[in-house]
Amino acid sequence: MQEEGIYDLIIVGGGPAGLSAGIYALRATLKTVLVEKGLHGGQVAMTDSVENYPGFENVSGMELCDKFLNHAKSYGLEMIQQEVAAVEPGIDYHTVRLSDGKALHSHAVILATGGYHRKLNAPGEEEHGGKGVSYCATCDGFFYRDKTVVVVGGGDTAAEESLYLAKIAEKVYLVHRRDELRASRILQQRVLSECKIEVLWNTVVTAIKADAQGVNSIGLKNVRTGEERELPAYGIFIFVGFVPNNQLVPAGVKMNAEGYVLSDEKCETSIPGIFVVGDLREKYAKQIVLAAADGCTAALAAAHYVESRKGAEVCEVPQSATDKVA
Ligand code: NAP
Repeated sequence: MQEEGIYDLIIVGGGPAGLSAGIYALRATLKTVLVEKGLHGGQVAMTDSVENYPGFENVSGMELCDKFLNHAKSYGLEMIQQEVAAVEPGIDYHTVRLSDGKALHSHAVILATGGYHRKLNAPGEEEHGGKGVSYCATCDGFFYRDKTVVVVGGGDTAAEESLYLAKIAEKVYLVHRRDELRASRILQQRVLSECKIEVLWNTVVTAIKADAQGVNSIGLKNVRTGEERELPAYGIFIFVGFVPNNQLVPAGVKMNAEGYVLSDEKCETSIPGIFVVGDLREKYAKQIVLAAADGCTAALAAAHYVESRKGAEVCEVPQSATDKVA
């Protein structure tokens, strides 16, 4: 294989972590391509409002992701919209196979595939998906104007999405299996002081029922008292956690028991030249700012890795690029 045909870096995934990696990789003059199967932004793009990304007191997830994308494009980031079928580590170079059969080769790969919302596995959940069962309030909340909806979960996502739905729906029941929310204090306070939200503590969903029009009631059980009841509701939004999207993680890359990829402080995995960033990476918290930070770390480390393989000095960031972004 000719050296010219090989990328320095292939980034798999176009959320905040992947796009941030793209910005830093291009500033380090790496020949880079980012492959994303869908729209840029990942999970964040589906978030109504982001209030904890420094410098933005309140911004929609989509707007923030557009800014990341435009920033990366301003450096000329090459992007391919295509599903990745496999990532295959190699000795001379790594290979990223696309679903159309094409193969891309590179010295380094950054895995930035994030994750997705966990299923509740309640009876009726699968059957009524898209007919009243949802995992995205920003996408589907509009359909429940002035109606009663149920949100399941006690974390930040359930809290944020309940607050969003309270602006649209007539009533939001937040169903949580314990007597204390896991969400951050500030979100807990907001949820508990929102008059349209009623928290049903120590409660689990036993069934999701529907008629021809879609979901019409939710079976509930109080795990303390054993009491069961049916709650009339027209939508159920499930936010019970996050599953790392690790299908493309090659064999040989170490993961923890939950399927998050292990890495060192450079975001490098157990295979040299394969890096991991964002929500796929095992770390203390999942935040957009941390995903962006991972992207920076991995791209800088990838630049050192690539240049050491090529036997050259690491490129200095050009002054013009430094001037361009404060
Ligand atoms: P999470 O923090 O893991 O919370 C999942 C919630 O679902 C927990 O309350 C859990 O209950 C409940 N749950 C899990 N399995 C369940 C089941 N089978 N039946 C009923 N309830 C179940 O997930 P998340 O809220 O999606 O957040 C994921 C990560 O993203 C977190 O690190 C979070 O801080 C972060 N995040 C941050 C922001 C922000 O800062 N703006 C926004 C969204 C998410 P228990 O509490 O009993 O375990």
